[in-house]
Amino acid sequence: MRAATRLGRLGTESAYVVLDAAKRLEAAGHRVLHLEIGEPGIPTPAHVVEAGVRALREGRTRYAVAAGVPELRDAIALALARRGVRAMAENVVITPGAKPMLFCAALALIEPGDDVLCPDPGFPIYESVVRFAGGTPVYYPLDAARGFAPDVDALEARITRRTRALILNLPHNPTGGVASPENLARLAEIAQRHDLWVVSDEVYAPIRYDGRYDSIAAVPGMAERTVLVDGFSKAYSMTGWRLGFGVMPKWLAGPMTTLIINNFSCTATFVQYAGIAALTGTQEPLERWVASLRATRDALVPGLNAIDGITCASPAGAFYVFPDVSAVLERTSLTADGLAERLLAEAHTAVLAGSAFGPAGAGHLRLSYAGARADVELALERLRGWVGSLAATV
Ligand code: PLP
Repeated sequence: MRAATRLGRLGTESAYVVLDAAKRLEAAGHRVLHLEIGEPGIPTPAHVVEAGVRALREGRTRYAVAAGVPELRDAIALALARRGVRAMAENVVITPGAKPMLFCAALALIEPGDDVLCPDPGFPIYESVVRFAGGTPVYYPLDAARGFAPDVDALEARITRRTRALILNLPHNPTGGVASPENLARLAEIAQRHDLWVVSDEVYAPIRYDGRYDSIAAVPGMAERTVLVDGFSKAYSMTGWRLGFGVMPKWLAGPMTTLIINNFSCTATFVQYAGIAALTGTQEPLERWVASLRATRDALVPGLNAIDGITCASPAGAFYVFPDVSAVLERTSLTADGLAERLLAEAHTAVLAGSAFGPAGAGHLRLSYAGARADVELALERLRGWVGSLAATV
């Protein structure tokens, strides 16, 4: 027996592979620090949990309308005004997480043979779903000197007649990069001139330390060519609830909903009610959390830069740092993968190798600082000690 060859086109997320290895170490009795997985270390806000439980008790346990509960779609459209995005419930399609919307968007927009511009480094699922849909990912670089914003000139130089879509992720995983308004305006102008779709992954939108947003869908003329992808996992610590959405032109929401009907039918109904509470209730837990992330970042970045051989920019958004460890690699003849593996095995600290995010990630690590502050500080201490001991043995 054999499975369809298309399965071979799928990539994966190394975070899950490393998490698995870390869990095995934990099962053997070790205290492992988890900086590999992009998961908030805070609980889902109490009022959101309460709304989910109440929805269950009230019997909201049946199929929902395929595109999503109308009140949630309304609440999303309203909340997007904060980002300058004008949307109505009819533009919104609910999915069990942002990831299914990335998958559906790829299937809905990409023809076999199309090129799709993907950030390098970038979330590995972009490349995976583009290939799965029959397209070819074409990497565009980020500008490390400008806070890892998309390098617009380099991006435009990669556009050909085959280019169908541009994937943006702001704030960006794995670098924490954001774009300036000028940067976004130029990207929008390029998308319009070359008639491109834009898939704008904004799952980290509320986690930006200067309180700004950069949604390309807010730029005039862009809403009709953008699928904005977002979810509740990161901002409201709802990773396990599975709740996300896409915002798109009204005419596309219909066929996108048919795609959903053919796949998961609808998103869990009671979960959608919890989502309404997340958006319409107090934003204080989110604000408090972003403030605590900022404090962790401000301790972590100087700590990393103080380690001989590591340089690290301070991210403007999301909860990842992407330190350049190439000087450590050079003097030890390790690859970033080898370094991450040994750091886990010997210092019980789980991080990801930058190479998991594309060729431009070589020589880097990705550390998530979304967990408890004390764990992040202990991880920094272990990293410092371990890199020091490596230097001593070379
Ligand atoms: N997009 C990016 C850039 C991510 O980093 C992640 C999760 O790590 C997702 C999407 C998936 O989010 P969700 O849990 O809503 O599927």
